[in-house]
This record gives sequence, C-alpha cells and structure tokens, in this order.
Amino acid sequence: MPDCVFCKIVAGEIPSTRVYEDEELFAFEDVQPQAPVHVLIVPRKHIPTLNDVTEGDAPMIGRMMRAGARIAQAKGTAAAGYRTLFNVNAGGGQTVFHLHLHVLGGRTLRPGLG
Ligand code: 5GP
Ligand code: ZN
Repeated sequence: MPDCVFCKIVAGEIPSTRVYEDEELFAFEDVQPQAPVHVLIVPRKHIPTLNDVTEGDAPMIGRMMRAGARIAQAKGTAAAGYRTLFNVNAGGGQTVFHLHLHVLGGRTLRPGLG
C-alpha cells in the first residue's frame, strides 16, 4: 500500500465519518468542509489522479458519479443543487493524490469555477 491518507481511511487506519461504502467505493465526510454537505468519494483501489484512470476504470467513474447523486439525494441537497468535481494535480488544486470526487452542497454555490 502506498503511503496514502485515503488508502488509510479506506483501510480504517485513519478514522473518518463514513457516508457510504460498497465493494468498490468508499465515501466519507471531508475533514475541512467547504459547504454544509462536503463528501469525498474514493475508489478502494489506489489511483493517483484522473490522469491515471484507464478505459477499464471508466465504468467505475460512472458509478462514482451515481454515488454522488445518491449521496446528494440522501443529504437533501439534490433538488436545490450541488457540485461534483475532481481536482487534478497541483495546478488543479489536488492535494491528496488518491482519486476522489468532491460532492458539495447544502448552500448556494457561486456560479462558475474559481
Ligand atoms: P483535493 O484538494 O486533493 O481535491 O482535496 C482533498 C480533500 O481531502 C480536502 O478537501 C481535505 O480537506 C480532505 N482531507 C485531507 N485529509 C483528510 C483526512 O485525513 N480526512 C478527511 N476526512 N478528509 C481529508
Ligand atoms: Zn491511496
């Protein structure tokens, strides 16, 4: 296992507030939430960035997006609206190099992207 904070969260070696899990994915509350709803969805397997996603991983990405929509629904922010995003590499704001989908909602988000 690489020395990776999200691998450790998936393995239960670092505590987290779990939101959802299945054989493939694990979702938990962001420790520094940027909105009332801020959940991270990660694959159990270590993939550093979106750049490393293969064609074979593509169906899993779809399931990550579907999980995001279900979590937004469960958190009550699906109808009002929310945002999903992948930050990619340092210039894209990525600080943890284990693929993760942000799900942000529960407040009105500024239009556009910083
Ligand atoms: P990035 O900037 O890489 O797209 O997002 C990384 C996110 O992971 C940040 O929003 C940060 O707050 C969150 N994060 C970093 N370390 C931990 C941790 O140990 N536990 C949890 N729950 N979230 C973390
Ligand atoms: Zn990892």
